[in-house]
Amino acid sequence: MSDCKLKVALQKSGKLSEGSFELLNKCSFKLRPSKNHYLIETKELNSSFLLIRDDDIPGFVDSEVSDIGIVGENGVFEYILDNPKHNLEVITKLGFAHCRLSIAVPQDGQIKSIQDLHGKTIATSYPASLRDFLAKHNVQAKILVMHGSVELAPKIAIADAICDLVSTGATLKENKLVELEVIFESEAVIIGNKNCSAEVKEKINELIFRLQSVIEAKDSKYIMLHIDKSQVGKLQEILPGCESPTVLYLHGSEDKVAVHVVSKEGIFWDTISKLKSIGATSILVLPIEKMMS
Ligand code: ATP
Ligand code: MG
Repeated sequence: MSDCKLKVALQKSGKLSEGSFELLNKCSFKLRPSKNHYLIETKELNSSFLLIRDDDIPGFVDSEVSDIGIVGENGVFEYILDNPKHNLEVITKLGFAHCRLSIAVPQDGQIKSIQDLHGKTIATSYPASLRDFLAKHNVQAKILVMHGSVELAPKIAIADAICDLVSTGATLKENKLVELEVIFESEAVIIGNKNCSAEVKEKINELIFRLQSVIEAKDSKYIMLHIDKSQVGKLQEILPGCESPTVLYLHGSEDKVAVHVVSKEGIFWDTISKLKSIGATSILVLPIEKMMS
């Protein structure tokens, strides 16, 4: 592999940063962010990590200051709407920072449908996404741009509605707001530049391979148990995502076998109860660090 540098842009601190560092560190990067540290150089894949605000990441990748970046899909969407001639591409989804961009309105107010937003003022930090949504629904409303504390806007009567990111909905509830419409579903993604060199592409592919091995392993479990031979077929019905199990002979037992399987979905207590109900014993559920297909 060539030894060109791989330049990665990450959010310095916020909802994306913890997940980004955790994922990369599981791929052996050993990133230790500290307060006034904006650049981390590492020997692993000869890479450097630029720690910046999430809003700047799509622009840095588009202008090739960084080769790739980890950002929310909603941030990419906002950037693309403002920069239609961009060269960005979403390389892969990363399975964390799930949230949605939604329009929310006061619980006891008059706004009950999208059409009711006509002539109203909507506060948001994502004006391009909101403008795009309103245009598609033929609604003329005033957009008030705020860079934070958007939920406050209806309370202090500077807006009738808001358009903001929601995950659990608890913040909306605290502010007596209710979701009217989801306009964009988002999670963390890796973005790259379509024009990157073949050398950089090779490095990106290696990084993506490592990340996907960790992501795939996250929800998978390695399960070992003892069971009656006749019940092996039933195991596949009980264990989600279980492919051909390995069946091993147990010394000194005619009827019982040991079964080893990889289950690709979460194993919960009710799954364990079902396994016990078909006579499984000595059940071990182990985490998997990496899965390479
Ligand atoms: P910065 O200082 O980097 O500009 P910020 O305040 O704009 O930070 P965050 O609140 O950290 O940004 O959100 C960054 C991204 O994380 C959002 O664009 C979105 O993709 C995702 N995100 C935001 N809120 C949540 C949430 N509650 N749960 C999960 N993901 C979220
Ligand atoms: Mg931001």
